[in-house]
Amino acid sequence: MEQHHENGKKVFKEESDATRTPQDDSIQGGTNDATELSSAFEKLEATDAGRPAANAIKEHGTMIQFGETEGAIAQFDPSTNEITIANGSKESGSAVLATHLAHEGTHVGWDKPHRLDSFEEFAEDYVDEEYQAFKAESEVWNAVKGQETDKTCDDVSEIIAQGEAEAKRIIRQIYLDDIRQSWLWHRSKPS
Ligand SMILES: [Zn+2]
Repeated sequence: MEQHHENGKKVFKEESDATRTPQDDSIQGGTNDATELSSAFEKLEATDAGRPAANAIKEHGTMIQFGETEGAIAQFDPSTNEITIANGSKESGSAVLATHLAHEGTHVGWDKPHRLDSFEEFAEDYVDEEYQAFKAESEVWNAVKGQETDKTCDDVSEIIAQGEAEAKRIIRQIYLDDIRQSWLWHRSKPS
């Protein structure tokens, strides 16, 4: 379930014959893809739980596109300010896409840097950020899914339903490798 991004990972951009939608000039892709992403974004923005993520995406001018994601369903790359949803999710429908945008949009708006003094503090902050992203994801999914089911989105809702402490324990397990890699990456950066 490591479907989501981690800071510092490179996202491969698709060829740039991108068409932008009129809505906010930030959605890339062919016409059908752009329409699909626009409608997902509108769905996100129309929910109370999704509005903060939608606003963050707008305020940061973050690009939204389909593309290659190294196995993740969706990722946000802060270095390019792009959210990339896996090409394999093109047929997912706007409710599922809005749910992924809720997660990635939470990362876009996240403005609390992770503490770097110890691994434990770093891991705690990392997990807290993911937890908030999962929580937004779950709330948006619950608001928009109707009769739809989706393995990933349903799993996220189930994790969040267990309460914060248990959800964070699960998230830490899911992301342990990413947390370690990110920690090493931060520690090896020349200061
Ligand atoms: Zn995430």
